[in-house]
Amino acid sequence: MDHELVAALDIGGTKIAGALVDAGGRLVARARCATPARRSGTTVMGAVEAVLGDLADRPHWSRVTAVGVGSAGPVDASTGTVSPVNIPGWRRFPLVDRVSAATGGLPVTLVGDGVAMAAAEHWRGAARGRENALCMVVSTGVGGGLVLGGRLHRGATGNAGHIGHVCVDLDGDACACGGRGCLESIASGPNIARHALAHGWRPGEDGDRTAGAVARAAATGDGAALAAFERAARALAAGIASTAALVELDVVVIGGGVADSGEVLFAPVRRALDEYAALSFLRRLEVLPARTGADAGVVGAAAAVWTARGGG
Ligand SMILES: [Zn+2]
Repeated sequence: MDHELVAALDIGGTKIAGALVDAGGRLVARARCATPARRSGTTVMGAVEAVLGDLADRPHWSRVTAVGVGSAGPVDASTGTVSPVNIPGWRRFPLVDRVSAATGGLPVTLVGDGVAMAAAEHWRGAARGRENALCMVVSTGVGGGLVLGGRLHRGATGNAGHIGHVCVDLDGDACACGGRGCLESIASGPNIARHALAHGWRPGEDGDRTAGAVARAAATGDGAALAAFERAARALAAGIASTAALVELDVVVIGGGVADSGEVLFAPVRRALDEYAALSFLRRLEVLPARTGADAGVVGAAAAVWTARGGG
């Protein structure tokens, strides 16, 4: 058991990352390739098989006993299929069967990428040892996952914790998900940048129009940049406070590209939580930066396998 490894896959719209992960969460091999997201479903699966093939060539492969997959969503763990919004060639794609076939029949555990991130932070990151945690990714989108009662809460289809699509603005804009006023439509990186541009922020000479550039401008006191982060932070705080009121959280962990801007995001989130999380049992809620970084996807996919075995 101590020598067993999990082959972990993190499948997103930009890249497919793979790793061999031991029971302590250490990565003993890595592989990756770009996701041919606009190509056919068969071509995308070919890229997944190439990553698995690269891992299978490593000397440690003989110790692999299971595969963990974290995928962009929606996923359906109950049927083993995925339909990622940003991979149009995959609709109800039988990923679990195909990965099992590509690995000689190994058992495959599938979770959504938000659940994987929560699994990673609970296993090796800022939510380690915590009973009730909301772990969020604020990046191109806004995703998340929950740990409740010390256990990863996957949901029947593996999508629980989809905080990016809770409503924080009753009369807000239509969201790509089909809903309205979703957290993601305010707090994602592209939406932060869009708001800043619409209110007078201008990119620097490098032409960088991302939320990272807005964060750098906010750090120097640019008013429109600060306002865009303030608005995103208030939306995040409203979503966090609502979730905490529902399930009693101890800690909220935030990672992803936008969270990498540090206090530019975290300071206004904490301030806004003082306003939105007013009930006595919400007052001690901690908000911490994620620790598992770029490896969160593969570490979480492996954690989903190990914790399922241990009952966690
Ligand atoms: Zn939505």
